[in-house]
Amino acid sequence: MTRRQALSHARKLLATNNIEGASLEAELLLRYALKIDRIQLYTEPDQGLTPQQEETYRHCIERRLKGEPSAYIVGHREFFGLDFYVDKNVLIPRPETELLVEQAIVRSRKYSAPVIVDVGTGCGAIATSLALNLPNARIYATDVSEVAVNVARCNCQKHRVQDRISLLIGNMLKPLPESVDIIVANLPYVRTTNLPQVNTIGFEPCLALDGGADGLGIIHQLCIQAKDKLLSSGCLLMEIGMGQGTAVTNLLHDIFSQASIKIILDLSGIARVVCLTLPSY
Ligand code: GLN
Repeated sequence: MTRRQALSHARKLLATNNIEGASLEAELLLRYALKIDRIQLYTEPDQGLTPQQEETYRHCIERRLKGEPSAYIVGHREFFGLDFYVDKNVLIPRPETELLVEQAIVRSRKYSAPVIVDVGTGCGAIATSLALNLPNARIYATDVSEVAVNVARCNCQKHRVQDRISLLIGNMLKPLPESVDIIVANLPYVRTTNLPQVNTIGFEPCLALDGGADGLGIIHQLCIQAKDKLLSSGCLLMEIGMGQGTAVTNLLHDIFSQASIKIILDLSGIARVVCLTLPSY
């Protein structure tokens, strides 16, 4: 079987089984099985696969057809132009979360040396992206899951920011040794009853998705914790799910009556990031 044939076969198989982005997924898995880059794949499409490569590719496609996300199969995912190691212990970074990072960068610029925390860091994609884009920032990254923190540690080392990010295991802001200027969080916000509709369910950790009955249980807890840990003029930035903008704004108003609250839309026009700024006391 040639590379071209392998690709076309897998593409059809994935598409017939309603896998979104079948072409891209087939290519990703073939490149992984052959350990080649995109250029090699397209400049030498008639090269044959060895029996071993065919076997590896077939196995990858089988896993994908059973619903396993390709990022777990190949062991990495791109986010904010950087490559991150991922496994089943962490949520796979999503493109919409790049908006959260962009906003955090913009809001950090008014500080010469901001102190930032990434809450529920998972694979560490947000904290690492911030560290690389804000060279003077001091960053904490917390997660309640010890196995997730181990993945984040790998990524900090991979991107050589391990000296700039303090990884802490614990409940959101509780392990922080000091107050911070910026809090960034992509917490679980899916309603428990909607979990079966998340297409990676059964593979991604529920701990990273399940936001309780109204989806806002954990976000609410963070807002309460933030009262004691956010410095004056500080910013709390959170990713939210579709249709949660009004409920989160109301919740924040109740806790921080003096703060200014903004909702930022993603490229699809969905309210995706909520930004609270404290007054300077
Ligand atoms: N955006 C994710 C999804 O809908 C949810 C991520 C989260 O809960 N933070 O699959």
